[in-house]
Amino acid sequence: MNYPDTQLLIDGEWRGGVEDRWIDVVDPATDEVIGRVAHATKADLDAALKAAKLGFATWSGISAYDRAKMMRKAADNLRARADEIAYMMTREQGKPLVEAKGEVMAGADVIDWFAEEARRTYGLLIPARAPGVTQLAMKLPVGPVAAFTPWNFPINQVVRKLSAALATGCSIIVKAPEETPASPAALIKAFQDAGIPAGVINLVYGVPAEISEYLIPHPVIRKITFTGSTPVGKMLAGLAGQHMKRATMELGGHAPAIVFDDADLATATKQLVAFKTRNAGQVCISPTRFLVQEKVYDKFVADFTSAYGATVVGNGLEKDTAMGPLANERRIPAIDGMVQDAREKGAEITTGGERIGNVGNFYQPTVIAGAPLDSRIMNEEPFGPVAVINRFKDLDEVVEEANRLPFGLASYAYTGSSTTAQKLGVAVEAGMTSINHIGLALPEVPFGGVKDSGYGSEGGAEAVEPYLVTKFVTTLA
Ligand code: NAD
Repeated sequence: MNYPDTQLLIDGEWRGGVEDRWIDVVDPATDEVIGRVAHATKADLDAALKAAKLGFATWSGISAYDRAKMMRKAADNLRARADEIAYMMTREQGKPLVEAKGEVMAGADVIDWFAEEARRTYGLLIPARAPGVTQLAMKLPVGPVAAFTPWNFPINQVVRKLSAALATGCSIIVKAPEETPASPAALIKAFQDAGIPAGVINLVYGVPAEISEYLIPHPVIRKITFTGSTPVGKMLAGLAGQHMKRATMELGGHAPAIVFDDADLATATKQLVAFKTRNAGQVCISPTRFLVQEKVYDKFVADFTSAYGATVVGNGLEKDTAMGPLANERRIPAIDGMVQDAREKGAEITTGGERIGNVGNFYQPTVIAGAPLDSRIMNEEPFGPVAVINRFKDLDEVVEEANRLPFGLASYAYTGSSTTAQKLGVAVEAGMTSINHIGLALPEVPFGGVKDSGYGSEGGAEAVEPYLVTKFVTTLA
């Protein structure tokens, strides 16, 4: 299989940028330049805006029934191309092939779910006070959307935004990640080949700040959606606010994973190790702060350390690889800095703690036990293969620690007590809490954060609402 160069998609045409500038794409497992991606400049953005405006007029005029049909065809196209797209994703992002293929197939599932929701954007008929008056609250598409997506899930981060926009009748300009451009382009090709008209979906790459600073204030754009770090999200939300644009912000997290004395320890350890391994920890909902009750603390640390430390790290194309490299070279010093800081502040590194070799961005699966609360890793999102394990005494103490940080995205808990489970479900300040299993991120359930982790949902019926406006029409017959 080949790794392709990636072009922009503007008004139905795949092409390079007007200035013919390109950015190299690097395989994070080998450091090789494997291709390039077209770089959009202002003239390309103007063309994309013009196309999105016309695309909105076309697409919002197509019935929800027909929109859903085309979306389901796109999902089928994606499934049929899953092996080819998974290969591209592993080359550009690093994750093991099996995870890459899983992400493509899950993407198809997301499209199907939103296609079904497309036909259910019901309005409301409101009883009138006067005879002959009909009061109608209609749900109409908000307009052209600008979506900004990161490199950790090149398909998943795009497909949720794109499917919600298309389901509701919006057009979209996607600014996909320059580091991992080919697989999101292949996703969008699957939609184009399903018959989505020109201009409805536009795809650009370039300098993220230049693109967001131009698109967000632009009058054609009516809604912003961003997934990425909290500092960038706050900046973009500020810009959206200044220009009165609706925004969905899916930002960073630092998920507590709480293990009580009465938990099924073997299940907790197995599930949390597997989930920590996924995508080398570069997951906004990855468990990061492991909080373990006193009686089972030593055993959990020992079992987690031996299982996680034994993870097979390598090139994602190899069959036995369980964990690939980090997607970006810049994440190596970022993670290493946090690990060294914890070490200096007296924490114990029970496994890992080092970069592997000097080719590719490989980092050892790392466990840190007993990191003090003022260590960086207990405050900054690790976004890598690092688990920090600390002990707690009782429910009140662990809830306080879980809620200490400004983040509030995912949280996990294992307990044999239904009373504890019920209390945690309410008391932990997070957009999502998964208890006694890992059960987040399905298309039909809400997905989003509170506090500094952002606002809005990218899953469930809630994910459709932000792409709709309510229009009230009252008529006297
Ligand atoms: P970063 O903050 O530089 O960038 C994060 C993402 O935002 C990238 O995709 C980047 O292209 C984009 N971005 C940056 N500045 C932008 C701007 N002005 N306008 C529009 N888009 C912009 O960080 P990074 O080194 O790429 O990733 C590290 C951190 O980002 C992690 O620690 C994590 O907190 C966060 N992150 C979160 C997610 C998520 O799923 N929520 C995904 C990727 C990265």
